[in-house]
Order: sequence, then structure tokens, then C-alpha cells
Amino acid sequence: MLEDIKGVGPKTLGTLNKLGIKTIDDLINYYPFRYNKIELTPLKDGEVVVNGIVETPPIATYIKKNFNKLSFRVEVDNYLVDVVIFNRAFMKNNIKRGKTVTLIGEYDSRKNSISCSDIRLFETKETTFEPVYRLTSGITSKVLNNLITNALLTNPKVEDYIPNYIIDDKEFLDKETAIKLIHNPTSNNIMEKAIERLKYEELFKFMFKTNYLKQNRKQQDGLKRDKDFSEVKSFIDNLPFKLTEDQIKACDDILDDLKSESRMNRLLLGDVGSGKTIVSVVGIYYNYLCGYQSALLAPTEILADQHFLSITHFFKGLGVRVELLKGKMSKKERSKILEDLKSGDIDLLIGTHAILLDDVIFKNLGLVITDEQHRFGVNQRSVFQNKGTMCDVLYTSATPIPRTYALTIYGDMDISTIKTKPAGRLPIKTSLIKNKDIKIALFEILEEVKNGHQVYIVSASIESEDDDLKDVKTLKKNLDTAFNSRIPTEIIHGKLKPAEKEKIMNDFKDGKIKILISTTVIEVGVDVSNATLMVIFNAERFGLATLHQLRGRIGRNALESKCILISDKESERLKILTKSNDGFYISEMDFKLRGEGDLFGTRQSGDMIFKIASLRDDIKLLSIVNNESAKFIKENINNSFKDYPLYENLAYSLNHID
Ligand code: ADP
Ligand code: MG
Repeated sequence: MLEDIKGVGPKTLGTLNKLGIKTIDDLINYYPFRYNKIELTPLKDGEVVVNGIVETPPIATYIKKNFNKLSFRVEVDNYLVDVVIFNRAFMKNNIKRGKTVTLIGEYDSRKNSISCSDIRLFETKETTFEPVYRLTSGITSKVLNNLITNALLTNPKVEDYIPNYIIDDKEFLDKETAIKLIHNPTSNNIMEKAIERLKYEELFKFMFKTNYLKQNRKQQDGLKRDKDFSEVKSFIDNLPFKLTEDQIKACDDILDDLKSESRMNRLLLGDVGSGKTIVSVVGIYYNYLCGYQSALLAPTEILADQHFLSITHFFKGLGVRVELLKGKMSKKERSKILEDLKSGDIDLLIGTHAILLDDVIFKNLGLVITDEQHRFGVNQRSVFQNKGTMCDVLYTSATPIPRTYALTIYGDMDISTIKTKPAGRLPIKTSLIKNKDIKIALFEILEEVKNGHQVYIVSASIESEDDDLKDVKTLKKNLDTAFNSRIPTEIIHGKLKPAEKEKIMNDFKDGKIKILISTTVIEVGVDVSNATLMVIFNAERFGLATLHQLRGRIGRNALESKCILISDKESERLKILTKSNDGFYISEMDFKLRGEGDLFGTRQSGDMIFKIASLRDDIKLLSIVNNESAKFIKENINNSFKDYPLYENLAYSLNHID
């Protein structure tokens, strides 16, 4: 337990939890993201790093409030030198005569004095690397490193996930040594060796899972459906719009998968607004015609609500019973739905994760669709497969991933892509302005509302102390002042109760609310086609892919839509959005500029996100590891991966939701 580690009290425990560190294993595997290199220099004018033996006890002078000076004398290579450092009076008692300290600062030979920027209370032997960790307030890299060192002293169990023959072959460090060294490297060379090994392992684990799932799926038989496609085709012909070519192709892929014996595991990729929902609906309809139930999983309640509305509309008069299962429902409502689900009366169940709870039992689940897959973790991919014996699985995602990456990280899936948007859509005109030009945005808002249209205002924060960060509440106040409270304006964010959110979304959909001020809860899927303007404050706080998703909420009909990005930071990155409406291009650029961070949504959503490897920099290594892990699986599938620890782990994650 973490509490058993020396130095971890209740307060530190809370701080560690904030960093996502819950176990000793998490702690020792919390790697530094860079190092400060400290190298001794000779004593000469300019920047120096030298060891000095303290000659005189330090004197603290308090110059004024919050400003003090510590001065003392040291011996450096047999020279006596004066030392000053500001605002370190608190170190006074730690700097003792006879002790050797490391002085980092500027030496001036005329004054024979070092003005220090930092003093370390130990002797620096040769080059040292001080690890720097990603932190939160209440802890420093030094303290964290001490805790990790203490944890390592308790000899925690360290599981090695690289098969032995690969370790031998590549002459990798053993895992425990690698972990010790990554936190306290003794040389550059050693540090790189530790990083290389841990990266390899991280990627190996990932690709092992992916390849294992792929292998596993190929061996399983799926549901076989016999019905021909005539009824589905007439359903498509009777839709209120004509499907685009890419939509038709995607429908064909899915229908063929459903008909065939092998189990479907398909990713439907398409930019925001490309029309992925209707493609899913076509699959659901065929599944229904064949006598099976379907489940549709949405990442948020808002989106589940929306799907419920639009899908019941598509299925009007066709006899498909669609129900919505929510997190918060009365016991009675919930048990009625569960009962009807079990008896097979419900054909399609829509909901969030709540659908995955154990008491939700289907009679004959045939198809599971996960909308906006990148919002869920990888491990969840396999969970629904336990809900129906052999059910087919479709994932949709609006995050266009460069093909190389898609092939590896989604290596266990087939992919259908929708590249073109439905005809008649105008590109969203995007502009970038500064806060001082806010009038431009206000004018546009007024103009759109006058024309009977609606407006989204997006903020990066629900509540903020920081004046530069415009939170939803401040924005509401400012807008009400600007428009004399004459335009119906509401706030929506993730912390509201589901019922409140639902009411606000419905009022917005019905046009009762004209301006909706929101956090990124509206990022995915929300579909109010009368909204034609979006104003995004503090745009610099968002990734390009997120901004592109956000503005995908407008431009949903033949009206011209505008997006105004507000940011005081000069940004090449944001300019990309003013020039392009192509999600694939934007995602490539974002990837180049920021790495995979934004590609898979928020950091939290991801066991997609590696701790030490990076999809951008380590793509070559990833494909090597991909091959190695596939080979390993092929050679060991018959002896059930004897002695390989990941296998137990894997069996576990196949059956559990993280
Ligand atoms: P996304 O791919 O972002 O999930 P949706 O499925 O929500 O996109 O589709 C966006 C909007 O476009 C919806 O209102 C939908 O009904 C409409 N739509 C989908 N396909 C077409 C089409 N072929 N022609 C016209 N409108 C379409
Ligand atoms: Mg969608």
C-alpha cells in the first residue's frame, strides 16, 4: 500500500492520487518526462556549477518583506569565494560549516563571488541528471523522486512484460534495474537504455493486446444472418435524404459483415457531420430484421438523448422498439426497461455506460455500436462482447487518424471511412480575433439571433479565478449585460444534473433558448441544425481536433455558418482552423504539433495514451514491436502463453471494465 511508503502521509497520499498514482506500482512507474543536467565546471567568470566546502556559517539579511539574502563563504578548489543567494533564508540552518554543497550560478572574478540561482545541499560527483516529473501543486520533483526511491527500497514486485527471449536478444536491462535507473540515472547512456527498454515494454503490452484480440476474434464464429437485403434497401430508399457514396459503401461493409459468419469488429471513421449515425441505423435495422437486439453506446447522456430522438424518428412506423436507459431513472422505469429487454420486447437500447452494468440483460443481443469510440478506453473495446454471446461490434469515431497509426493501434479492426460530407453543406467560415475585438463577435451574435438562428458560446471553464480565462458564469453575465437580458441565454456544463441538462438541451432544440453557453459537453454529436454561429473563448486552451469537433456542431444544414475563435495568444496552430475544414488534414497538423494528446480526446480517457512512448516519435519502434508481438502470439498460442504474466492480466481485462 502507498501509505506504507516512508514519507507518504494522508496529505501526500491525496496529492499522489491527484496525479493518478494509487498503488506502489503506479508510483514507481511514474516516469520523469525530462531531466535537468548538472555538470561540474571550473571556477571561471560566467555560469558555473561547482562544489564548495562551507567555511563560514551563512548570514541571513532581511532586506524587505519577501526579499532576503543569504551570504556565506566557501572553499572551491582551495580558493575562498563569497556566495550570495536571494530569498533562501530558509536554507540557513541546512548550510553548515564543513559541509560540501553544489553551487549553481554566476561567478565574478573581480568580486570573487558567486551569485547563486540554486544551491544543492550535497556534493555533485560527476554529471548528474535530476529527474523532472509532471506535477500538481503540493509536491516537487525532488520530493516525488524521494518517495519513489523509498518505494523502490521496499523491493516491490515488478512484473516483466517482455518475453525472455526478446530481453536476451536485445540485451535489455531487466525491468527492475530499468525502473531504478530511469528515476536516478547515473549517465546519459544508462538513462537512454532504461527509457528504451521501458518504451519497448509499453508498446509491446499494447500491441500484444491488440494482436491477441485480433487473433481471438478470427477464431470465433459470429452470428450468421440469412435474410437478404431487400427490406434494408427500401428503408434506405425511403430516407428523407440520399446517402452519399461513402455512406453507401460503409453500409455495404457493415451489412456484409453482419451477414457473414465471422464476427464483425469494425471502425467507422468519418469527420464530424459526415453522417455516421444513419449508417449505424442501417446496421441496426438489418440486425432487427434478422431478429436480434442492438445496443447503442454514447459517451454522454446528452448524446444518448439526441440519438434517441433522431433514431426513433428514422424508425417511425417500422415496428422497431427503441428505448433509452439513463443513469438516473426511477426504479420503476428502470426495472420495466430491464424486464422488456430480457423478454426481447425492446429492439434497440440506447444509453451511456449504464448499459454495461451487470443487471442489464439482453435476450439476444446481436449488434453493439459504440459511438465516438475515442471517448472510451481501449480496454472497453472487448467488454460488450460478453453481453451477447457472439455479437457483432461497430465503433464510430470522428477522430481521423493518420493511416499508419490506424493500422497499428486499431490493428484488430476493419475500417470503413466516410470522406465526403452530404451535398449542399457550406464550409464553416472560421475567423480568429482578440478579446479587444469582442464587438465583432457580439455583432454577429445579434445578427444571427435576429435572423431566427441560434448560437453556441464555448468556454474552457465552469468556474475560474483567473481573469484571462472566461468561465461560463462570467460569460453569461457579460452577455446579459451586452444584450440587456433580452436574448434567452442559458448555461450547460457537465456538472449539471442529467435532468437539468436534458431540459436545457430540449429548450435549445425547440428554439426557446437562443444562446447556449457551454463547456465541451457539446463537443460530440449534438445536432441542432438551426445553430449557425459558434463563438469559442480562450481557444488556445483547446486542441485543434477538439476545436474542429466543436465547430462541427454548426454547419449542419444548407445555411452558412460561422465560427469565431477568440484568443489573445498569437497562434499558428489556431490559424490552421481558419484555413481548413478538413478534419483529416487538421488532425495530421495537430498530430505534428502536439503529438497524440488530443487525438484521443482527453488524457484521462486514455489507456490509449502511452506513458513513455509517443505515437508520433516512436512509430518505427511501434511497427517493429507490432511484428514481434504478432510472432510471439503465433508461437505461443498453443501453449497458452505459459509463464507470460501479461496473459493473466489480459484475460482479466477482457472480462472487466476498468
Ligand atoms: P456525425 O458523423 O457527426 O455523427 P450525423 O450522423 O450526426 O454526423 O449527421 C449529421 C447530420 O447530417 C444529421 O442531421 C443527419 O441527419 C444528416 N445527414 C446524414 N446523412 C445525410 C445525407 N446523406 N444527406 C443529408 N443529410 C444527411
Ligand atoms: Mg455522431
